[in-house]
Amino acid sequence: MQGKRVLITGAAGFLGSHLSDRFIKEGCRVVGMDNLITGDLRNIEHLFKLEQFEFYNHDVSKFVHVPGELDYILHFASPASPIDYLKIPIQTLKVGSLGTHNLLGLARAKGARILVASTSEVYGDPSVNPQPEEYWGNVNPVGPRGVYDEAKRFQEAITMAYHTFHGLETRIVRIFNTYGPRMRLNDGRVLPAFIGQALRGEPLTMFGDGSQTRSFCYVDDLVEGIYRLLLSDYVQPMNVGNPDEITIREFGEEIIRLTGTDQQLISKPLPTDDPKQRRPDITKAKALLGWQPKVSRQEGLKITYEYFRSLPEHEIQHKEF
Ligand code: NAD
Ligand code: UDP
Repeated sequence: MQGKRVLITGAAGFLGSHLSDRFIKEGCRVVGMDNLITGDLRNIEHLFKLEQFEFYNHDVSKFVHVPGELDYILHFASPASPIDYLKIPIQTLKVGSLGTHNLLGLARAKGARILVASTSEVYGDPSVNPQPEEYWGNVNPVGPRGVYDEAKRFQEAITMAYHTFHGLETRIVRIFNTYGPRMRLNDGRVLPAFIGQALRGEPLTMFGDGSQTRSFCYVDDLVEGIYRLLLSDYVQPMNVGNPDEITIREFGEEIIRLTGTDQQLISKPLPTDDPKQRRPDITKAKALLGWQPKVSRQEGLKITYEYFRSLPEHEIQHKEF
């Protein structure tokens, strides 16, 4: 990978910033692009001093121009937390659709390979568990989450069409709930929400009865899976996630133990169309990439908790989404 030039959209976000670090570490030149709508430049400020890193503040839903050659494009720009995409639904639809179209066009013009960030949300509220890639999903197109889910489904469809009709080198990763340092403490996702509440001495808000499940993957494991997928020759969508499934109630109890808070779980209404279960079938990633997660939830949560705990007090206290 030495000397390869890689465009990473969403570079100032949680996953984009970790990917930027990884590709720099592999000897690549990284072009970060972000309009900072849900991201934060502090996630990549350590990269600005490097000669191998450059940054464009740009909305990728508008025409994307990058001077010079590109070997790889990783399209990670998109709001990713339900709170974010409910607040900015049109931008969410646009970045998954128009943004993806722009980046596919750029990949074609540059002769670059493109990997797009899809999501377990393409499975909607799944009727099979765990979810294999062959499952077509159960999505409500006009529900509140539809703006994200359908944009990502369109993203997969147009990416596959560019592969089929233009022979473009494409990769599609279906990412399951991922966590780690640089998540926004107030982004509304369950892990930062629970840890933030514990740090502020507030009760932990469990939505519904907490019987819904999720499977949480530590960010370093995810980045490794994405890196391997990019360099593989597999063009069909691939699940990357940690199959260690847990109910949200049990997860809340784990966070209470981890943080030592004296607070309890309280129940709040379950959001519309909240998926009841989610667990990746990673048979393909294991067989084709030789990949599986290595970091246990216990280890990953500890690192993530230390990160949140070390934030300035005014950020911990800042609850607004
Ligand atoms: P994030 O909000 O931390 O990062 C997204 C970044 O994209 C932000 O920096 C934001 O400013 C930027 N962005 C959004 N719209 C843009 C636009 N139009 N132009 C340029 N930049 C724009 O979220 P994340 O968790 O890092 O997610 C990154 C990607 O991974 C998203 O595509 C998301 O759908 C996907 N994903 C994430 C998860 C997860 O658990 N974190 C799960 C499934 C899929
Ligand atoms: N959740 C919760 N309390 C919160 C935030 C989320 O109980 O303060 C639940 C949410 O209803 C869902 C799960 O935690 O069942 C994961 O939510 P998140 O927003 O992290 O991601 P999702 O997987 O739903 O996209």
